[in-house]
Amino acid sequence: MIIVMKRNYTPQQLEGVVDAIRVHGLTPHVTYGVETAIVAAVGEFHIPALDPFEILDGVETVKRISQPYKLGSRQAHPENSVFPVDGFTIGGDDIILMAGPCSVESRSQILETAHAVREAGANALRGGVFKPRTSPYAFQGLGEEGLEYLAEAREQTGMPIVVEIMSQTQLDLMLKYVDVFQVGARNMQNFNLLRALGETRKTILLKRGLSATIEELLMSAEYILAGGNKQIILCERGIRTFETATRNTTDINAIPVLKNLTHLPVVLDPSHATGDANYVLPIARAAIAAGADGLIVEVHPDPSKAVSDGKQSLKPEKFAEMVKQVKAIAEVMGRQIAPIKKPTAAGW
Ligand code: PEP
Ligand code: MN
Repeated sequence: MIIVMKRNYTPQQLEGVVDAIRVHGLTPHVTYGVETAIVAAVGEFHIPALDPFEILDGVETVKRISQPYKLGSRQAHPENSVFPVDGFTIGGDDIILMAGPCSVESRSQILETAHAVREAGANALRGGVFKPRTSPYAFQGLGEEGLEYLAEAREQTGMPIVVEIMSQTQLDLMLKYVDVFQVGARNMQNFNLLRALGETRKTILLKRGLSATIEELLMSAEYILAGGNKQIILCERGIRTFETATRNTTDINAIPVLKNLTHLPVVLDPSHATGDANYVLPIARAAIAAGADGLIVEVHPDPSKAVSDGKQSLKPEKFAEMVKQVKAIAEVMGRQIAPIKKPTAAGW
C-alpha cells in the first residue's frame, strides 16, 4: 500500500502515518519528493480496508500497490531512482559505461585493460575474481589476488570497480575492495546472498537469470530493497531461448518494460547477451536506443588469449569505436555518456 502525504504535511503527521503502519504489523519505507512524501507500507499483514490510513492527518491518498514487488515498483516511487556511484551518477540523463575483462587474469592484463577502457571513455572497470564456471575444472578466478590488482587499477585510473560476488561467504573480504557488487545470472535467486547484500549500502548490479522472467528479476531486487539498500542497477544480459545462433537472445523488450515497471536504473550487457564480439556493437546501440541507462561490456587486450569469454570480448580499439557510436545514439535520445572523473591535487 502507498500513502501519499498532502503537500503541506508536517513532520508530526508523517510520524503518525509511520507509527500507524507499524501498529498494523507492516514496515514503512518513506520516499521524500520535492513537495510531498510517499510512504510505502510493506508486509504480509492483510488490511481489509484502506480507511485506517485515509483518515490520518496529513494524508492525501491511499492506494494498494498491485505488483508483488512493492518497493521496486513505479507505483511506490514514481520518479527514477538516481544515485551516485564513486565518480558518476546513474539513473538520470547520463549513460554509464562499465567495461573490462570477464576475468582478472594478471596484474598486467587488468592494468592494461583499465587504462585502455578509461582512455576510450569508460566510467567503471569490471573484472571477475570469483568466476561461476559451468565446469569445475575451468579457471575459477584469482580471488583476493585479483581484488588487489583491481584496487591498483582503480588507484591508477580513478574508475570504481564492479566485481561479481558468488556467495555471502565472500562478502567480508570483498567489502574491503569492491565499489559495485555484481550478482551474476546464476545467482539471481540466491536469496541468502541477496539478503546479505540488502544489509550493505554498496551499489548492486543485479543480472537477470538465464531463464528468469522480468517479474522474477524484480522480486530478486525486492530482497535487496527490503533490507534497506536502494542502490540497485538491473542488468539484462540475454535469456535462453530455442535460438542457437547466438549464446543467448537479447530481450531488448526488457529495457522499456523494466523502465515502465520500476524506478531502478537498467543497463544491458551485450557481451553475454550475444556471446560474439561481432554482434556486441549493434546490440549496444540498440540498448541505448531502447532507453537503457548504461552498458556493461567485456573488453580484453588480446581476446584470443582470454581465459574466459574471449569470443565475446572486444579489443580496446573496438570498444573505443563502440563508445563513439553509443555517444551518437545517446545524443539522439537527449542523453550523454557520463563525464569521466578528473583527478584533483589530492588524487582521485
Ligand atoms: C560475467 O559477467 O562474466 C558473467 C558471468 O555474467 P552472467 O552472470 O551474466 O553470465
Ligand atoms: Mn563473462
